[in-house]
Amino acid sequence: MPHLMNTYGRLPVAFTHGQGCRMFDEQGKSYLDALAGIAVNTLGHNHARLVKALSEQVSRLMHVSNVYRITQAEAVSDRLAAISRMDEVFFCNSGCEANEAAIKLARMYGHQQGIEQPAIIVMEQAFHGRTLATLSATGNRKVQAGFEPLVSGFVRVPFDDLAAIEQVAARNPNVVAVLFEPIQGEGGINLAHNNFMRGLRQICDRKNWLFMVDEIQCGLGRTGVWFAHQHAGILPDVMTLAKGLGSGMPIGACLAAGRAAGVFKPGNHGSTFGGNPLACAAALTTLDVMEADGLMARATTLGEAIRGGLRDGLSGVAGFVEVRGDGLMIGIELDRPCGELVTRALDAGLLINVTADKVVRLLPALVMSDAEGAELVAILVPLIREFLGA
Ligand SMILES: *Cc1c(COP(=O)(O)O)cnc(C)c1O
Repeated sequence: MPHLMNTYGRLPVAFTHGQGCRMFDEQGKSYLDALAGIAVNTLGHNHARLVKALSEQVSRLMHVSNVYRITQAEAVSDRLAAISRMDEVFFCNSGCEANEAAIKLARMYGHQQGIEQPAIIVMEQAFHGRTLATLSATGNRKVQAGFEPLVSGFVRVPFDDLAAIEQVAARNPNVVAVLFEPIQGEGGINLAHNNFMRGLRQICDRKNWLFMVDEIQCGLGRTGVWFAHQHAGILPDVMTLAKGLGSGMPIGACLAAGRAAGVFKPGNHGSTFGGNPLACAAALTTLDVMEADGLMARATTLGEAIRGGLRDGLSGVAGFVEVRGDGLMIGIELDRPCGELVTRALDAGLLINVTADKVVRLLPALVMSDAEGAELVAILVPLIREFLGA
């Protein structure tokens, strides 16, 4: 047995290489990849432009300390600011680190307003990461169990429920921010309504709270716009990114705008690797290719086609609840735990995931072709029908 710490129940397959939305294992078997490393490989595998950009960057510089200027990080910050209409970017290496930055920023913002015990509203079924602060913000007891005492200063409310937030607003003077996912990923592909986001924006303006969106899974083009909150036509104060930003290179980001900009000063926060030239070359190329190849529009049309195909194949089947999602962030809810579908799909040459026990989750690369989308439906529908005994 290898000496890996026992933190994952791993499937018995090891991949050697990939091309686009295909992956190949040690036996040479080919798989259709409908998971993209959990929304990470935005451009699929072995994308020519990404390989070229990274190779060139590796041969020049991989790491430079943040005590110097890093022009690649400056360039990515300019691009992210332009597409998000936000003001500042802090770079780190993962989603939980981006959320840690957001949580620290909200607390410092609170202290600057004279609030000694700042609190952040978070949602049921939320997932924000595995560090102590982010697992405390997460709305899943399984993620927290055994790690008590949790970090304090979080107030939990039901997801997508403005009335619950108004109640907290009326009785808790320590609230400084609200943190939520516009589409909950790990929680089972749960969509916040646009009216919820607009109403929450108004409450945050009225109460001087920071409106903080975790777009680590739903952001970066996956739902047909750069960031999922843009469907509601609102501007957040803080946004966190990671997963798809580097198409496989580890990079995270915490963006701030308006009242949230300028909160951190030198010495307040940092990261040794954050925003290094190699990770930033990956992010810059990802954003360039998304724009040049119109991948956001592709996410919309392909997502509609996949959801339509799944509904056609599954509606009326006993045990099938619904297909939901937006763009290429798709959940298929069944009436029973369905984790074993992951191994059945693997045997059939398809990579999928199950989250929240009963929800099959699809997060393919944005470069998936129409033919591959149809193939995904053609493999998955019979597997689910068979699993449900139809
Ligand atoms: C994956 C995820 C995180 C955590 O990201 P890591 O890179 O694993 O730390 C946080 N929030 C959301 C919404 C995620 O999907």
